Amino acid sequence: MKSSEDLRTLLERIDHRSYPAYKDTAGSYQFGGYVLSIDHVQGDPFASPSDVSIHVPAAVAGFPAEYFDKTHRRVALQDLLTRTFGREAAQFSFKAKGSGKSGLLSVSRCGQEILERSACRILPAGGVVLRFHVGFPANGRTINARELMKIFFEFLPRCAERALKYRSYPAARVRGVIELADDQEYLRGQLTERGLAAFVADGSVLPRESGVSALPMKGAVPFRAPESLTVTMQLPHAGARRGMGIPRGITMIAGGGYHGKSTLLKALELGVYNHIAGDGREYVVTDAGAMKLRAEDGRSITGVDISMFIRNLPNGKDTARFSTEDASGSTSQAANVVEAMEAGSRVFLIDEDTSATNFMIRDELMQRVINRESEPIIPFIDRVEELYRTFGISTILVAGSCGSYFHRADHIIQMKQYQPVDITALAKREAAAFPLQTEAPDAAAEPNFTRCIHCTQRLEDRVKVRASGVDSVSIDREVVDLRYVEQLADPEQVNLLGQILKYAIQNLMDGKRTVNEIVDAIEAVLKARGMEGICGGKFLPAGYALPRRQEIAACINRYRRLRV
Ligand code: ADP
Ligand code: MG
Repeated sequence: MKSSEDLRTLLERIDHRSYPAYKDTAGSYQFGGYVLSIDHVQGDPFASPSDVSIHVPAAVAGFPAEYFDKTHRRVALQDLLTRTFGREAAQFSFKAKGSGKSGLLSVSRCGQEILERSACRILPAGGVVLRFHVGFPANGRTINARELMKIFFEFLPRCAERALKYRSYPAARVRGVIELADDQEYLRGQLTERGLAAFVADGSVLPRESGVSALPMKGAVPFRAPESLTVTMQLPHAGARRGMGIPRGITMIAGGGYHGKSTLLKALELGVYNHIAGDGREYVVTDAGAMKLRAEDGRSITGVDISMFIRNLPNGKDTARFSTEDASGSTSQAANVVEAMEAGSRVFLIDEDTSATNFMIRDELMQRVINRESEPIIPFIDRVEELYRTFGISTILVAGSCGSYFHRADHIIQMKQYQPVDITALAKREAAAFPLQTEAPDAAAEPNFTRCIHCTQRLEDRVKVRASGVDSVSIDREVVDLRYVEQLADPEQVNLLGQILKYAIQNLMDGKRTVNEIVDAIEAVLKARGMEGICGGKFLPAGYALPRRQEIAACINRYRRLRV
């Protein structure tokens, strides 16, 4: 392998030459405690910055083996290293000067959630790989190698020293991260053990600072469980934690406007992920497969069996294999429910605010005026009990204006000045005076999930895949709208979804597989070969984070070139 001195000599030689001469630097160089690898060199100073990675051998990195022997620990440790490296690198970004992106040092920005990212990988034997981007400096299109030398020989060695070695951290800091991950893992396991859909610890801070900041709100009212729903969890490290256990079944979150209903639901939506210390939601955990479901007018639907909710459409369309390029509120929400069932979700999260009213309820007066024969929708309220009793799927539903669900709910929680109150007994008593007239006309059959899909798009290998925040991803200009797939927590997840979709189009959508089989195949590749297996290419760049199975399915289902 070449040495760092070889790199220095090379850089001196190409200084002041025209930008493409930088291409010669691609390769690996032995530095003091690590190997610097220049994986891809940008074409000009304004293009996407170059891909660079640092590989620290296990003996130098020195993290204790028990800190990365289980997936949840390894992911938490990788997250710590990425954050620390990012913080160090930020001090040096653009300290090397030049045109365009010259001097940029860019490391994945980790938010409140702890995700598996391509930015950092701790190898089975303890070696550390850290991937990031560097803007190779130039003046105009003339190489400024002196500035790049600053980055390689001054800045990066300091970042690596401080972020990628165990002995640079206070031992308690690393242990704290691992112990929190253990406790979160334990809590999520306890949900199943204790028949819970979710748990919210006392003292949790659920609201965020603002609509554009995911940091905890300062001065917020801390969460406190009502006595009747109190569960105490004996965490392996943090000890006993009291909190609210939301039992499996049907739970309604009621309450006046502005009392914190949606805030609680939002916390539950993101409770499928682990959160960093200080977030306020460290001990808010939801069943890992929980899915937020909402109306999504205009989405495309391909061959989904929504007949348990909708049948006898006026245009005669087959709702057992329903396709449309422009769904209505009710058909879109029905498809979202059925697709979530297909993806294996066992907890549904629904907010009245973002639901199609006619999908959720039909009041008595309306039933009298418009008889059943003229109404194609069997509303969710008439299926919610079957979803639980027949299919084992729990629902947590926010409803501030529709009392009908009092009849169906096993537990009713009122949010009152940001505090939960168990009003089940009271609400049931009142509800008894208003008997519900409606019920489903027949038992719901399990939806037919056997549709095999293919696609009408042919892709070049070098096709452009472009993500736009957490809102959409496009593949050769075909846009997949993900705005209403609300549990996507990070733009890097959407980056990977783009690659996953490309992989699925090229390898899996052959008309012989169902969506579930395609998602299974993708998960198998991820398990066997990691993100490399999906992204292909000679090296894995920074910038990808793992989405859940549910979001992979959601992305495929929204792709408009799908056919059955
Ligand atoms: P609802 O859905 O019941 O109408 P929201 O959940 O939207 O109410 O909350 C209304 C407002 O109250 C939001 O601005 C939110 O940030 C704030 N809020 C929610 N929970 C708390 C809390 N625990 N402490 C302080 N403010 C809160
Ligand atoms: Mg609300």
